[in-house]
Amino acid sequence: MTFSSGDQAILHIDLDALVANWRRLGGMAPQAECAAVVKADAYGTGAAEVGKALQKAGCRRFFVAHSEEALALRQALPDVTIHILHGPTAGGEAELAAANLTPVLSTPGQIAAWSALAKQLGRRLPAALHVDTGMNRLGLSETEAYAVATDPTRLDGIELAFVMSHLACSDEPDHPLNRQQADAFAALRQRFPNLKGSLANSAGIFLGADFHHDILRPGIALYGANPLDPSAGPRRAASRMAEVVHLQGKILQVRSVDRGMTVGYGAGYIVEKPTQIATVAVGYADGFSRALSGRGSAIIKGRQGHVRVPIAGRVSMDLITLDVSALDASDCRPGTPVSLLGGGIDLDDQAAAAGTIGYELLTQLGRRYRRVYK
Ligand code: PLP
Repeated sequence: MTFSSGDQAILHIDLDALVANWRRLGGMAPQAECAAVVKADAYGTGAAEVGKALQKAGCRRFFVAHSEEALALRQALPDVTIHILHGPTAGGEAELAAANLTPVLSTPGQIAAWSALAKQLGRRLPAALHVDTGMNRLGLSETEAYAVATDPTRLDGIELAFVMSHLACSDEPDHPLNRQQADAFAALRQRFPNLKGSLANSAGIFLGADFHHDILRPGIALYGANPLDPSAGPRRAASRMAEVVHLQGKILQVRSVDRGMTVGYGAGYIVEKPTQIATVAVGYADGFSRALSGRGSAIIKGRQGHVRVPIAGRVSMDLITLDVSALDASDCRPGTPVSLLGGGIDLDDQAAAAGTIGYELLTQLGRRYRRVYK
């Protein structure tokens, strides 16, 4: 893909790779249904485009976090099941029911309100139940869940699709909380014997059959990040996913900087020998983390192959500066494309350089890039 004259940067999103990741994850638990988590605008990649590609591939169930995300996704995907992980907000229930959305209920108050609306409308309303099994973040407590199980009148009017829980440490396969949560979830399901179960996020799928249950909820692995933490050791090589996101910036200027001079804000980057500095039109306002100042890297395709170049000095709002001294001047001109994420720059490595995780780098991707879906 070449830059057209107005482009400052292009965000390539490879929907074929994304669908391949979804199929691969689903193939790891063939008896389960593979849904897709597309909250936060599909982790920054575009929920409508991602949702349509996955629907075409056979995905029928999607998870978002907020009601507004669900209502927007409903416009793009009229015929699929859309779950709202945060459940309905008080007073917002009728709008969700009208759009045929399926909230995940995680408090007794949400259950009561959804049930009351069902009675008022005189029809059954679909929902799922979220029960906390050890993360202590969202979901009914086990006591609240057992109260619901023993008094099903609390669910009057509600058509429950499944019961779910969320794993706190699935990216660390050896963490003891994984087994505790799996056991707690298995015990919980015995209280709701007729309901399907959903436990596994991306990393949870790699933990094995005990974690799969009936509905898989992958997010990050769909978008190409490795779901396992580096502490997973050699197992991590097997959980490498196909690259989905490739962010390309373009060189605006190249300049020679003499020894002893500085580059960028704060004048903290001091050049130790004559250096070629290329300025690229991407900055922290585009979601390119300021934490990558002097730490991250980029890749430029030169005649000697793909050359990794360091970020020199601070990331500014709309610009970064690279030390391109390793490249031939003819390979490094205004207009030359530079890979900043993907295209040889591993998402997880770039995230580690920024002191964060791939989730954060992706979801921060700004809206200023030209987005190209293929
Ligand atoms: N399920 C729930 C409840 C979540 O909150 C998330 C994301 O945070 C996911 C599934 C998807 O997780 P991951 O992106 O790690 O696959």
